[in-house]
Amino acid sequence: MKQLNEHYIGGARRTVRHKETILVRDSATEAPLAQVHLGDASDVADAVLAAQQALAGWQHIGAAGRASYLLGIAAALEDCATDLANEISREVGMPLKLSQRIQVDMPIAAWRATAALAETFRFVSDVGNSRVTMVPVGVVAAITPWNYPLHQITAKLAPALLAGCTVVLKPSELAPSATVRLMAACEAAGVPPGVVNIVSGGAAVGEALVSHPEVRMVSFTGSTAVGRKVAAAAAGDMKRLSMELGGKSAAVVLPGADLGQAVKATVSSCFLNSGQTCSATTRLIVARETYAQCRQLLADAAAAMTPGDPAEPGTRIGPLLSAQQRERVLTHIAEAERAGFDRIAGGSEAPVPTSGYFVAPTIFGNVAPDSRLANEEVFGPVLAVLSYDTVDEAIALANGTAYGLAATVWGPDATALDVANALRAGQVDVNGARFNPAAPFGGFGMSGVGREGGIYGLEEFLEPKSIQLPASALQA
Ligand code: NAD
Repeated sequence: MKQLNEHYIGGARRTVRHKETILVRDSATEAPLAQVHLGDASDVADAVLAAQQALAGWQHIGAAGRASYLLGIAAALEDCATDLANEISREVGMPLKLSQRIQVDMPIAAWRATAALAETFRFVSDVGNSRVTMVPVGVVAAITPWNYPLHQITAKLAPALLAGCTVVLKPSELAPSATVRLMAACEAAGVPPGVVNIVSGGAAVGEALVSHPEVRMVSFTGSTAVGRKVAAAAAGDMKRLSMELGGKSAAVVLPGADLGQAVKATVSSCFLNSGQTCSATTRLIVARETYAQCRQLLADAAAAMTPGDPAEPGTRIGPLLSAQQRERVLTHIAEAERAGFDRIAGGSEAPVPTSGYFVAPTIFGNVAPDSRLANEEVFGPVLAVLSYDTVDEAIALANGTAYGLAATVWGPDATALDVANALRAGQVDVNGARFNPAAPFGGFGMSGVGREGGIYGLEEFLEPKSIQLPASALQA
C-alpha cells in the first residue's frame, strides 16, 4: 500500500508532520490502495507564504512565458497518462477506457487549450478614455472534489496560473493519485518554487485555507453543503469566489422527440462514472402519454448496464468511490422504494458483485415532484422520471429544484431551442449536441457562482482595472 505523506510547498516536497491519516481503498475490490497523511493549518500558512513570495516573479514572466509552463505540465502528465487513468479508475470506479479519455486525456487537452489563450486573450484594452488592464487576483486557494480529480484541478490551476496568480491547492483526500502525478509534473516542467503549492488534507486544511487573510480568491468545486460553509468563511475579508457545486439536472423530452435517442443519452449521462458526475441528467421529464413507451426503453437501456470490474474492457458501469457513498445512495433508493414510486430498473435488492462498492443502476418512474429523489443530488446511479401534461409544465418541472447546473432538451430543433432558452441552467444541450470545453461551465442558483472553461474560466482569476487617461496618453 502506498504512503502518500508529502505536501508540495515552495517548490519542495515536505513530509506531513500531523499524524492523522485516511485509508483509500480500491473501489472494485475494497483492497487498501493508499494511506493519505493529512496536514494542518501550519502547512497552510507555509504554503500561502510561499505562494505570496512567488507572486511578483510569476507575474513578471508574462502570459506567454507562463503558458510554456502549462505546456510543460501537460507533457509531463501525458508521460504518465496510462498509469494515471488506471489509478483514477481504481479510486473512483470509472471504467478504464472512459477514465483514459475523460479523466486524463481531456484534462491534458485543457492544459494545452488554456495555454493557447495566451495568444488571443486581451489582457489590456481601451474603452473610451480608459485603459482596462486585467490584473491577476493574487494568491488563489483551489479546493477540489474526488469525482473527476485531474479535470477539476486543471479547470482551476491552468487558468489561475495563466492569469498570473499563484495557487495553494487542497485536492480531495479521497482520490489522491492525480495530485501525486501533478506534483511530479510541476517538478518536471520546472515550475518556479511557490507558484503551485499542494497541501494534503481534509476539511480542517480546507477551512484554514479559506479563512487565511492573504488568500485573495477561493475557487471551490464540491457539494453545495460544503460550498455554503466555504462562502461564509470567505466573506469575512471579501475574497473573490468561484463555486462549482451540485446539480439535479433535467433531460426534457418534448412531443416529437426521438424517444429512443433521448432515453439512451439520458441513461448514459445519468450513469456515467456510476452517477458520480455533477452535471449528470438525473431527472428525465417526459410527456405523460409517452410514459409507457419510455418505461420500456429505460428498462432496456438499464439492462445493458451490468455493473462490473472497471478494468474489464466491456464494463460500462463500475462501483462507487467508497462504502460511505454506497450507503448514502442506498438510503435514497430505499426511501424511493418506501414512497412506492414505479421501479423500472435496479433497486436495493438488485444483484451486484459481492466485493466492491456497487449499486445497481436504478430507475424510478412516476416520481413525485416534491420528493427528495426529485430534488436532492444522489451522486449515484439513480434516475428519476417525472411526467408532464403541457410543455409549460415540463419547463416548470425542469426549473423546479434549487439547482441549475445543466440540462438537455430533446424535440424538434426550433421548439427545443425555445425550451432551452426558458431553462435556468448554466449549460443546456439540444438534441445531443456535443460538450464544448471552450464554453462557460457553471451553475445557476445553488449550483454555484462563476464559470470555468475557456476565456470565462480565465477571467475569474483576473480583476479588471481601469485607468482613465487624457487623449495624449491614449494615443501613446
Ligand atoms: P465535498 O463538498 O465533500 O468536498 C469538496 C472538497 O472540499 C474536498 O477537497 C474536501 O476535503 C473539502 N472540504 C470539506 N469540508 C470543507 C470545509 N469545511 N472547508 C473547506 N473545504 C472543505 O464534495 P465531494 O464529495 O468531494 O464531491 C462531490 C460534490 O462535488 C458533489 O456535490 C458534486 O455535484 C460536486 N461537484 C460539482 C462540480 C461542478 O463543476 N459544479 C464538479 C464536480 C463535483
